Amino acid sequence: MGNLSIERDVIIIGAGAAGLMCAIEAGKRGRKVLVLDHAYKPGQKIRVSGGGNCNFTNINTRPLHYISRNPHFCKSALSRFTPSDFIELLKKHHIGYHEKELGQMFCNEGSVAILNMLRKECEAAGVELHTNCRISEINKQSPFKVMTASGTFLSGSLVIATGGLSYPKLGASGFGHRIAEKFGLKLTPLKPALVPLLFSRKDLVVFNKLSGVSVKVKVGSNSKEFYGNMLFTHKGLSGPAILQISSYWNNGDTIHVDLLPDIDVLKVLAENRRSRMEMKNLLSRYFPKRFIQIWCEMYIRSKPVCQYSDMELEDISGRLKDWKIKPSGTEGYNTAEVTLGGVDTDELSSRTMEAKKVQGLYFAGEVIDVTGQLGGYNLQWAWSSGYAAGQYV
Ligand SMILES: Cc1cc2nc3c(=O)[nH]c(=O)nc-3n(C[C@H](O)[C@H](O)[C@H](O)COP(=O)(O)OP(=O)(O)OC[C@H]3O[C@@H](n4cnc5c(N)ncnc54)[C@H](O)[C@@H]3O)c2cc1C
Repeated sequence: MGNLSIERDVIIIGAGAAGLMCAIEAGKRGRKVLVLDHAYKPGQKIRVSGGGNCNFTNINTRPLHYISRNPHFCKSALSRFTPSDFIELLKKHHIGYHEKELGQMFCNEGSVAILNMLRKECEAAGVELHTNCRISEINKQSPFKVMTASGTFLSGSLVIATGGLSYPKLGASGFGHRIAEKFGLKLTPLKPALVPLLFSRKDLVVFNKLSGVSVKVKVGSNSKEFYGNMLFTHKGLSGPAILQISSYWNNGDTIHVDLLPDIDVLKVLAENRRSRMEMKNLLSRYFPKRFIQIWCEMYIRSKPVCQYSDMELEDISGRLKDWKIKPSGTEGYNTAEVTLGGVDTDELSSRTMEAKKVQGLYFAGEVIDVTGQLGGYNLQWAWSSGYAAGQYV
C-alpha cells in the first residue's frame, strides 16, 4: 500500500450500499476498482437496516416515493436498476426474502446475508476494498489523487458514495458534501429525515407518561398524509407514521393527527347519544386505556355521554379527527434514518451520476439530494444510483 505508482481506473469512497453496487458493476466491466472506507467494516447501515432484517427494497417503488428539488432526477436510474433486478441478485445467491407489508421486501436470513452477497459479488468482479482507511485530501487535478493514512491513490474516475449525516456512530460524515463544495458543486439544504419528533416542554409534561404506547393514526403536515402506527416515546413521537411525516415537517409547523382514521366519530357519538356510559369508557373501546385516560384529562371533561350538548360532541369529534401537535424539533442526526438534501441534482447527469462541471467525478446514493420515504426506498435508490454510475465510471 502507499504506492503512488499504482493507478486504478476507479476509486470509490464509501463502502455502503451505493458504493458497493457501483464497484460490482464497474468491476464487471473490467475496470480496476478500489473502494476506500474509514469504517472498520463495509456496509454498516445495511447491517442495521430494517432492524437487522434489511428492508432492501420496495416492489412498489415509484419516483413519487422520493423527495428531491428535481422530482424527475431519480427516474432514469430507478428504471435501469429496479427492485426486481435486486431480487434477481438475491435469487442468484439463494437468499430467501419476503414481503412484509405495502411492498416492503425483507431478507429472511437477516441483513448479514445481503452484506455477504455484496462481498462475494465484489470478489467475483475483482474489486479491491480497503477499510479503516482515513482520507486526508483529494486533489482536483486529473487524474484524481486521493491521499489517505495508508497511502496515495490515483484514478481517472472518482465516485463519492459516502452517504448522509445520519447515524454518525455508524461512520456517517459530511465528507461527501464537503467534497462536492470543494469541486464547486451546489448543495441543497440538509436536514434530518425519517426521524422522531420532540414534544414541546408543555406537551412533554403530560404525554411522557404514555411512553411505549402505540396508536394507529393518519398524520398530516404540509399537504402530505401518512397512515400507520404512532409511538409515544419519553421525548416525543415516533413510529412509522411519524417518521414518514418528519421528512415533510419543518420547524414551527403543526402536525395534524387523525386518531381514528377508520371511524366516523360523529356517527359513533350520535349512536351513543342517550348512553349513560362515561365518554372515556366509550372511547376506550378504540384506544389503549392509558392513552385515552390522559387524552381525556387533557382535552375533555369526561361525563356520561348523554350529558354532552351537540356542540360539545362535535368538538370532541373534531379533536379526535384533528389532534394538533406542534413539535419543538426532531431528535436530529443521531437517530434520523436518512439525511434530506445533498448534492444538488442540477449538478449531476441523471443518466451517469457524473458531475456536469467536473469530468470523472461521480456521486451515488444518499449523498445526492434524493431522499426516499420509509419502506425500502432509500436502499433502492442506493442500488439504482450506484448501478447507474457503475456503467460509466
Ligand atoms: C438505523 C437505520 C435503518 C435503516 N433502515 C433502512 C431500511 O430498512 N431500508 C432502506 O431502504 N433504508 C434504510 N435506511 C437508510 C439506508 O440505510 C441508507 O439510505 C443507505 O444505506 C444509503 O446508502 P449509501 O451507500 O448512500 O450510504 P451509506 O450506507 O451511509 O454508506 C456510506 C459509507 O461511506 C463511508 N464514509 C462516510 N464518510 C467517510 C469518509 N470521510 N471517509 C471514508 N468513508 C466514509 C461510511 O463509513 C459508509 O460505509 C436505514 C438507515 C438507518 C440509519
